[in-house]
Amino acid sequence: MKQASVRVRFAPSPTGHLHIGSLRTALFNWLFARHYKGVFLLRIEDTDLERSKQEYTESILDAFAWVGIVSDEPIVIQSERIAEHTKIIETLLASGKAYRCYCTPEQVVARYEKNNPGDAFVKYDGLCRSLKNHPQDVPSVVRFALPVDRQEVVFEDLICGRVSFHINQLDDFIIARSDGRPMYNFVVVADDAFMDITHIIRAQEHLINTPKQILLYEACGYSVPQFAHVSLILGPGGDKLSKRDAATSVLDYKKEGYLPEALLNYLARLGWAHGDQEIFSSAELVSYFSLDHVGKKGAIFDAAKLQWVNAVYMRKMAAADLYTYALSCLDTRAQEKLKKYHATNRQQLYAIIDLYKERAHMVKELMDMVLLVCEGPLEYNAQDLVAWIAPETEQYLKELIVSYTDCVQFDLEQVKHVVKHLAHRHGLKLVQLAQPIRIALQGSSSGPGVFELLLILGKQESVRRMQILYDNLQNKAL
Ligand code: GLU
Repeated sequence: MKQASVRVRFAPSPTGHLHIGSLRTALFNWLFARHYKGVFLLRIEDTDLERSKQEYTESILDAFAWVGIVSDEPIVIQSERIAEHTKIIETLLASGKAYRCYCTPEQVVARYEKNNPGDAFVKYDGLCRSLKNHPQDVPSVVRFALPVDRQEVVFEDLICGRVSFHINQLDDFIIARSDGRPMYNFVVVADDAFMDITHIIRAQEHLINTPKQILLYEACGYSVPQFAHVSLILGPGGDKLSKRDAATSVLDYKKEGYLPEALLNYLARLGWAHGDQEIFSSAELVSYFSLDHVGKKGAIFDAAKLQWVNAVYMRKMAAADLYTYALSCLDTRAQEKLKKYHATNRQQLYAIIDLYKERAHMVKELMDMVLLVCEGPLEYNAQDLVAWIAPETEQYLKELIVSYTDCVQFDLEQVKHVVKHLAHRHGLKLVQLAQPIRIALQGSSSGPGVFELLLILGKQESVRRMQILYDNLQNKAL
């Protein structure tokens, strides 16, 4: 390695949006780099022209920008390095470490099946390896010539431990297609060497590629980096996490109003542990993170735990910050409504956010509640009406409306006094009045303390909402 200090990279292919599992792999890279005061880099692997799309590159970079993981050096775009890749392939061809192969895929399969009946894993038989006369005008691929003196490829994976592959498991694999475009295993090696990568921390699905890549490193004369293969994230059923189990695209978590710090905290703990600690500051994660404590087995995605972690972070945030954050992630309609309340009654909006933030797990869920309280209920929860609205409730509401309208001081003492006094007079439990008030103010009976809610909404608005419920009951509209 040319550089002694740690240099890692995350290398997404822009063939889809950033997957939640990929974000965890990127995070492990980032934490590893920060822990060792090294460098974290991003590389866009866009050489698969059929499947790569610019919109996915943008969406992947948006997702990284959202969580605050940025490349310490300019992002490497793999397709911009094709000329370099081609030069290296030419060198391998010139030295005999690679060769041109003119066999069609059908010929390769037919010969293999004939000579190895029943073997499902087709390997190339090396026919063109010793070709003396190269045919003219026949398309050719470039194959890597496996070293003849090698029995096995062994490496110490920093997560999986010692891994060995027998050379019989490999064949002279293709490193450039017939149109000249280089293949994945080759470009990864060429670019990782170019970027002086010291540690490759990536998904376990690439373990199978590692022996090929190690042989390529050796053939090109590059130092072999260290490898760490991170297990998959699994759904509750134990299979690879799918869209049926949870949102898999990172940006969907933004839309739901997850906080990036909370998501990273949760993902860091998914397959890595530091004792029993669950909540970590970013500095703690950097200081404690080590590959030694990353599990070998797949980690099960627990949506409820992620929500819990998010709620912990949300509760620590000031209302003004939650408001600002909501504007960055909610849809335009919700944003506009929030902005309207912010412009007309900022303090009330913040007070409602503070009152409800204990009751929500995600910012979107919180702001849905907040907007409902700001706007007043458009409908009432049917079950709550059945549970809490008795024939006499209409009368109680009337008395509450009269008493509250008469209140000179609409403060905590008075607001409580009215309810207690009425309960006492009619021999009621407080809840028999508190719940109809809650239903009147916010449409349902589950919510924060009713006295706080009354005070935040103020006398006029509280009375107005109680009057609406009263009128509905009187008109038998419910
Ligand atoms: N581009 C590959 C992927 O998205 C990653 C390759 C690597 O990390 O070596 O799966």
